[in-house]
Amino acid sequence: MALRKLVAGNWKMNGSLAALAELDAIAVAAGAHAGIDVLVCPPFTLIPAAVARAPDLIFGGQDCHHAARGAHTGCVAAGMLKEIGAAYVIVGHSERRADQHETDADVQAKARAAIAAGLIAIVCVGETEAQRDAGHAGIVVSNHLDGSVPPEATEVTLVISYEPIWAIGTGRTPSLADVAEIHAIIRAKLIDLLGRAGERVRIVYGGSVKPENAADILSVADVDGVLVGGASLTADQFVPIVEAAA
Ligand code: PGA
Repeated sequence: MALRKLVAGNWKMNGSLAALAELDAIAVAAGAHAGIDVLVCPPFTLIPAAVARAPDLIFGGQDCHHAARGAHTGCVAAGMLKEIGAAYVIVGHSERRADQHETDADVQAKARAAIAAGLIAIVCVGETEAQRDAGHAGIVVSNHLDGSVPPEATEVTLVISYEPIWAIGTGRTPSLADVAEIHAIIRAKLIDLLGRAGERVRIVYGGSVKPENAADILSVADVDGVLVGGASLTADQFVPIVEAAA
């Protein structure tokens, strides 16, 4: 089933007020292709200025807390992101699973908080290189989904991002057959967990997506978009990826 494609940029801990100038050309490209969603997830601090500069683009956060408010120094609630104009939030990125020791249960709680606040949760899943080499990629991803997909999620409130950890920031990508295999596993598991809604939840691929490989990756069955790290930081790299999805 052809779903509306999502091209998402994750700036990670990069960017500045000056770097928001990159949004101008990205907004032009997004505006020319009304059939796809183009999302940029800058650091929290840049979101208000990004929304002001490119009001027609879609913005998101890179994480949120599982609680709506409270004594959690340094954290940001999903409702706070919503209030400043974010529509999406990434949860469970492998860098946070590693650096902040986030578990599937933590990720599920964050996704539930995001949905409750009116955001779309992008839940990231993916295997390490050792897990892939051992032939366990499918089961690892399946287990991530079992633990981190909120039961109340629908195609409107949830996106899954398949991000093999060994492909993030390395320039290496799985073969198209391997992407197809894991996306099919994710699709079957989503239908198992969410019923009919699972047929329409978008599944995007992330990990060393570049202008050179975007069209091929986007042509794979059940690849409903891409989550782009390094190549989302500049319009000269990100715009061709937007064009490849259009
Ligand atoms: P990358 O990052 O495109 O720089 O590999 C992808 C991601 O972590 O989302």
